[in-house]
Amino acid sequence: MIVGVLGGGQLGRMLGLAAANLGVRVRFMDTSAEAPARHVGELIVDDFDRPRRLSEFVRGLSLVTYEFENVPAALVERLSRTLKVYPGPEALRQAQDRLNEKTLFSRLGIPTARFAPIDGPGDVPAALAHVGLPAVIKTRRLGYDGKGQALVRTTGQAAAAAAELGAGRIPLIAEQFVRFDREVSVIGVRSADGSTAFYPLTENVHAAGILRTSRAPLPGRGAAALQRLAERHARRVLAEVEYVGVLAIEFFERAGSLLANEMAPRVHNSGHWTIDGAACSQFENHLRGILGLPLGPTGALGAAGMVNLIGDWPPLARLAAIDGARVHLYDKQPRPGRKVGHVNVSAPSAAQRERVMRAVEREVRRAGRIS
Ligand code: AMP
Repeated sequence: MIVGVLGGGQLGRMLGLAAANLGVRVRFMDTSAEAPARHVGELIVDDFDRPRRLSEFVRGLSLVTYEFENVPAALVERLSRTLKVYPGPEALRQAQDRLNEKTLFSRLGIPTARFAPIDGPGDVPAALAHVGLPAVIKTRRLGYDGKGQALVRTTGQAAAAAAELGAGRIPLIAEQFVRFDREVSVIGVRSADGSTAFYPLTENVHAAGILRTSRAPLPGRGAAALQRLAERHARRVLAEVEYVGVLAIEFFERAGSLLANEMAPRVHNSGHWTIDGAACSQFENHLRGILGLPLGPTGALGAAGMVNLIGDWPPLARLAAIDGARVHLYDKQPRPGRKVGHVNVSAPSAAQRERVMRAVEREVRRAGRIS
């Protein structure tokens, strides 16, 4: 059996590693011959907008999935004429555009920050009147890791940011700036037969728009109520678009309520802890879901944590020396702001997890070159 994966980044690489354990082969399509997934499956180097090697890519595939949501909708639609593509084109359409996803959340009764579209510079005053200040102006499509967005505190800043981001040429969205208590995410999986499973909620810390650390199960009081709430929200989205595979939804937690910020129709960085901290990882469960296999157990094995390695990584020998830390490097070239690996921590107690995460972070600081 061969599964096709659009994209060959680190998420593809980790999908490929999970697939190998199931005896499933993976064929990736990526624009780069250096794609991190190249060592865990076959790699077809091609252009997603104007593919030339599509017949080679699809030959013998059982189905297709993707590891980044910016894959062109036209390609997914073309592939879905002859092959099953999971998650399906509708889920992708909703998740590719911040206005679509926030509109979907609202329609399903899932709270969000106030939002308004900005289709041209003239829309800025009305959008601000709706969302208030401070606000966050974002591109509706193709943003990631905090790119394509600006925090604005005045009307003048908003007009300048909208112009800078391409108002009029590129569709934008204005969002109320949320003073959240913390950020959390839920990773859910739905199988082709409609069964669902959810991992424990994960607490995420971002800096400069990039995920730095995750902790699960959710530390602090009220976790059980938040878990029920997040699962109820996620279940609605999964059912609405007849979703198949892993879906991540990121929320702002504020005074015990959850505001949905965005969803990713794929395996997600905030679920990397599941490789070492859950009996069945998000990567294996994505494969199980899309292949119609029974879903695997999603409970946490202990207190789990994850530290992203961004820009560069400390010497492997130093990370490997930390008891309780599991190193995952993506075979990428160092570059400021780039996710090049992560370290998972799985500990018998939250206190022990914190000790190990601190030891990892000390090494990251010591290595110095990391941004
Ligand atoms: P996003 O690309 O929407 O996931 O945004 C990246 C990060 O920027 C989020 O994880 C938050 O830390 C921050 N952020 C984004 N939107 C907002 C908002 N409306 N209010 C406050 N913080 C935000």
